[in-house]
Amino acid sequence: MTQSLATSLDQSNSDHNLRNAIGKVVCVGRNYAAHAAELGNEIPSAPMLFMKPSSSVISIEQDIIRPSPKVYGETHYETELCIQLATDLHAATAEQARQAIGGVTLGLDLTLRELQSALKAKGHPWERAKCFDGACVLGDWLDPKEFGDFTQVHYQLHINNTLTQDGDSALMLFSVYDLLADISHAFSLQAGDVIMTGTPSGVGALNLGDKLKLVLGRHEWQTRVQ
Ligand code: ZN
Repeated sequence: MTQSLATSLDQSNSDHNLRNAIGKVVCVGRNYAAHAAELGNEIPSAPMLFMKPSSSVISIEQDIIRPSPKVYGETHYETELCIQLATDLHAATAEQARQAIGGVTLGLDLTLRELQSALKAKGHPWERAKCFDGACVLGDWLDPKEFGDFTQVHYQLHINNTLTQDGDSALMLFSVYDLLADISHAFSLQAGDVIMTGTPSGVGALNLGDKLKLVLGRHEWQTRVQ
């Protein structure tokens, strides 16, 4: 490896505050059947979990900087509905999970796909492919009341004005409340923790200069690949 994955990102104050407010980022793999199928994975019988560190978080207001493609191969986008907790959750019910949600946004779970595939093949953990600086791109936090019970939340990713991912929480294998409750039985969730709830189908590689637009209801955010 000739290039460090711990890039010194140009940190704005707001980005620093965003990171400080975030604890761990818990990610859910294969929560949409069509995405599991496109990567040749089986549909899980329980939520498949992994984590990103808070050091990987950047605001969507910053450009995306990919780790060197020559060294690390393709960086894939995965657009995901993200939840932030306002209160702690431990061995919670779905109703307790509902009450703990403090914010909602869209995020990009950036993944070094070729490196991840190589790690998977060896049976190794995925951190090298999922935790690099800038690997967790988050929009602004919105009031959860706007999204009802999260059973029909529609969201999209457009790349260079082409609809690339079209997600709806109705298609999740495990619903938002069930996910939070299940995770809280595996380990404690704390106020400030973020849950990325899985990506719909349509993942692919980011290219230099790509312009991304994320749409969640009446909200939208734009970023580009530097
Ligand atoms: Zn993901």
